[in-house]
Amino acid sequence: MNLLKHAIKEKGRVLSEDVLKVDAFLNHQIDPVLMQQIGKEFAERFKEAGITKILTIESSGIAPALMTGIELGVPVVFARKRKSLTLVDDLLTSKVHSFTKKETNEISVSKEYLKEDDVILVMDDFLANGQAVRGLMEIVKQAGSTLVGVGIVIEKGFQAGGDLLREQGVRVDSLAIIDSLNNNQITFREE
Ligand code: 5GP
Repeated sequence: MNLLKHAIKEKGRVLSEDVLKVDAFLNHQIDPVLMQQIGKEFAERFKEAGITKILTIESSGIAPALMTGIELGVPVVFARKRKSLTLVDDLLTSKVHSFTKKETNEISVSKEYLKEDDVILVMDDFLANGQAVRGLMEIVKQAGSTLVGVGIVIEKGFQAGGDLLREQGVRVDSLAIIDSLNNNQITFREE
């Protein structure tokens, strides 16, 4: 997706050989026009899949997931990373080790919002080693819902998550795949 790749090149900052900072348009300040285009792109790709809900994880998955939800006309559920006083219903939970924060969180979703007849698109901002996506897939499994695929804004193709998921037969659609962040250079995978 060219608009996204342009934003990554112009506004992304390489923090190390495996971490990219995109606070200027996705992780802190949010570019609404870019998010709208991202939503349209995911909706186009998954429009035939019969999706009834999108599942993401707070906080940076919410913006792209919401825009996709608007385009597909389906609700967006986000897994919470911390226990909330209002999240007291029966919960679906799984553990996620955060690549950037180096801590393990128990993520949770109320059983009320994911049901057996739901058809789910899992979404997130980044895909690195696949921990966050796997945690969300575990929640889909516990709910007895059907997973149709995974929508990722930025995949770091040099980390194992995406390829492992694809090898297991999971449909993973990433709008930009980065092959390398070496030497402060962002190199995209050719489409
Ligand atoms: P994974 O669970 O696939 O190892 O990592 C994905 C999660 O870690 C995403 O939810 C994302 O928030 C965060 N993450 C992983 N790599 C990066 C990165 O290079 N930059 C930023 N900003 N977040 C990342």
